[in-house]
Amino acid sequence: MTLRVFFGADPRRWPKYAGPVREALAEIGIDAEVTDAAPDPAAVDYIITSPGGVILDYRPFSRAKAVLNLFAGVENLLSNPTLVQPLCRMVDPAMTQSMAEWVTGHVLRHHLGMDAHVLGQDGVWRNQIAPPLAAERPVGILGLGELGQAAGQMLAGVGFPVTGWSRRPKSVPGIASLSGGQGLVEVLGGSDIIVLLLPLTKDTENLLDAGRLALMPAGAVIVNAARGGLIDDAALLAALDSGRIGHATLDAFRTEPLPPEHPYWQHPRVTVTPHIAAETRPGTAARVLAENIRRGEAGMAYLHQVDRARGY
Ligand code: NAP
Repeated sequence: MTLRVFFGADPRRWPKYAGPVREALAEIGIDAEVTDAAPDPAAVDYIITSPGGVILDYRPFSRAKAVLNLFAGVENLLSNPTLVQPLCRMVDPAMTQSMAEWVTGHVLRHHLGMDAHVLGQDGVWRNQIAPPLAAERPVGILGLGELGQAAGQMLAGVGFPVTGWSRRPKSVPGIASLSGGQGLVEVLGGSDIIVLLLPLTKDTENLLDAGRLALMPAGAVIVNAARGGLIDDAALLAALDSGRIGHATLDAFRTEPLPPEHPYWQHPRVTVTPHIAAETRPGTAARVLAENIRRGEAGMAYLHQVDRARGY
């Protein structure tokens, strides 16, 4: 029987995904028709979705066995009460690698003080500043899942002492693990650079508020590669204004695109990047989608299924 897979993700992604998804399904022997054309919803077996996708009401897709997201974050889908099917987030090895590279690049920029030489060259020979070695620069990672672990291990490979914080304690080579409220106090207080790689949930929203920002060492740097809602923006701006927080490199925002009038754009201690830390790559992501469809057909547990109670 031919399965019907509906590409209900952002239509701009269809040209990049159509070929790889069809090829990945064929490679593992799944006979499927993959389409972006408005289908008879009651005939669809699997739905591929993403932010900006075309489905607002999932109820007519009465036969759909699972909804497969192209993004790692699912907060926008979990707020849709019509989506009741098993929901899988994306864990794509290429996205994981690109996140680790992006985080390592931005951490190294701050660690080495690269801006002092890269920006505003003025003919003055300033050679008296030698940065500490990576081993002397503790880095904390909030969120020690797929992406946090990969970023942490790349940073540990450079030589940074890395501490991760997660809901449950973890055993990850090269990374110290903390959890719970006291663990958060310790990682914030002990890190010169904090990387955010948490999902946005009811428990993590505004996690970095004024009180928690005040726990960080003076001049500490924040690298937010996850979601804008993790940070209380007003509190961060106040901490940047006072210099308590030395710099914030932000890739994700409550409103995207970040409006041109937002104070982050102009702030001398903020670097804005336009949600480009880690893009899903069609070639590798298509194999993850195909494997989940294979699993669904075989009656096996899906990979990366979202736990609705936890919110990620
Ligand atoms: P993941 O594998 O689900 O990992 C999430 C981590 O956060 C886990 O370690 C989890 O703890 C921890 N966590 C969740 N709630 C917590 C809480 N209340 N207290 C403490 N720790 C908590 O997710 P991922 O694949 O690494 O992705 C993380 C996030 O990155 C995504 O949700 C998305 O928002 C963001 N992202 C951004 C981009 C970008 O381009 N900017 C790209 C991809 C993803 P446990 O391990 O104990 O469960």
